[in-house]
Amino acid sequence: NLSERLERSFKILKGQGKITEINVAESLKDVRRALIEADVNYKVAKTFIDDVKVKAVGTEVLTAVNPSQMIVKIVHDELAALMGGKAVEINLKDSPSIILVAGLQGSGKTTFSGKLANMLKKKGRGVMLIAGDIYRPAAIDQLKILGEQIGVEVYSEPENKNAVQLVENGIKYAKSKGTNTIIVDTAGRLAIDEQMMQEITAIKRAISPSETLFVVDSMTGQDAVNTAKEFNDKLDFDGVVLTKLDGDTRGGAAISIRAVVNKPLKFVSNGEKMEALDVFHPERMADRILGMGDIVSLVEKAQEQFDEEEARKLQSKLRKDTFNFDDFLKQIQQIKKMGNIKDIASMIPGIGKALKNVEMDNSMFKQTEAIIYSMTPAERENPALINGSRKQRIAKGSGVEVADVNRLLTQFDQTRKMMKMVAGGGLQKAAALNNK
Ligand code: GDP
Ligand code: MG
Repeated sequence: NLSERLERSFKILKGQGKITEINVAESLKDVRRALIEADVNYKVAKTFIDDVKVKAVGTEVLTAVNPSQMIVKIVHDELAALMGGKAVEINLKDSPSIILVAGLQGSGKTTFSGKLANMLKKKGRGVMLIAGDIYRPAAIDQLKILGEQIGVEVYSEPENKNAVQLVENGIKYAKSKGTNTIIVDTAGRLAIDEQMMQEITAIKRAISPSETLFVVDSMTGQDAVNTAKEFNDKLDFDGVVLTKLDGDTRGGAAISIRAVVNKPLKFVSNGEKMEALDVFHPERMADRILGMGDIVSLVEKAQEQFDEEEARKLQSKLRKDTFNFDDFLKQIQQIKKMGNIKDIASMIPGIGKALKNVEMDNSMFKQTEAIIYSMTPAERENPALINGSRKQRIAKGSGVEVADVNRLLTQFDQTRKMMKMVAGGGLQKAAALNNK
């Protein structure tokens, strides 16, 4: 996925002492490929990369203390800028404020209408929903169920076959009740068709809404962009709602929609529950796309690689506090399979910082293994035995300095502590402890 690809690209950058035009270009080529794979429109990706390149390959970056951090920040900020920079609120100044909800069938309009009603009601607004999908009787029931759940009245006319008239009636009714916020759910089709477009534009013309929101399923990738473009050409909407972000990690749709239609993303929907709605924050989406602090994917990665049986044994050993260098050796084998431990650990917010000064890359495993192999079975079993003279012997046997042996012993202690936290309550707990 995109965040993994970007991470890999940045890993290349992290390995370099200095950022030069050549390695920026190389890495950004990877970033561009990753963006395109994540359904970002080709032209959008190209413009993005060009912007980053100009910003990155400057004296500012070359003289910076930590150029790789700088690049990550530039990419992050550019992504956020590409998605609009700041969160844009919906217009709720009119009284009543009318919000028209449009989009393809199955994009999540009805669910979103309910969620928005819920959110605005909680803010103290008087909200009414209008069931404007006249083609499927089930659509009215669906909205009514949601309305009941959140305590918001739903206006509907199951017999009315004129959507424009129905919505007008609904607004009249809502006004008579003194409602200050009206949300109009509408019908969609499986693909854009003329009739649907005519109907939704006729509704818009008839009611002049304060806000027209276009709802789009983030899982539809590049199609989402095309749909957004067609809707925008006809409907000239005010904002985009990106749904089903819980089911997909690709943020590509968010980037390209914004860039192609030049309309702000306003909400993201990430679940079927009525509470699963967030105001869109470009910064957060950029974080998400870059995969910073992605604990979930870290846990998944660890789960994939760790043999369950081994993990269970290890856990009980950690609990009994009998974790020793033989176990440590086994862990090294596991970690080698997982990739770079420091990169993995750095995905946990807080831990990355804590590990900054800890030597932890795969090449050091060779030395580590040599040192452990120079220990006697008794020493491996019980590291507390390792005193000054034993350290000297071990160092000689493995061709390293005593300082290296000391470093390993410290590292062993740290690993044991960290793994104990992981075993005893999950990575989040470990992260929380490190964040203190
Ligand atoms: P509409 O045809 O545009 O009104 O779409 P619906 O609101 O009926 O949603 C279609 C399906 O997607 C339903 O099964 C919803 O429960 C589901 N859905 C809507 N929004 C989300 C979301 O943010 N996350 C997930 N996982 N499912 C969603
Ligand atoms: Mg619907």
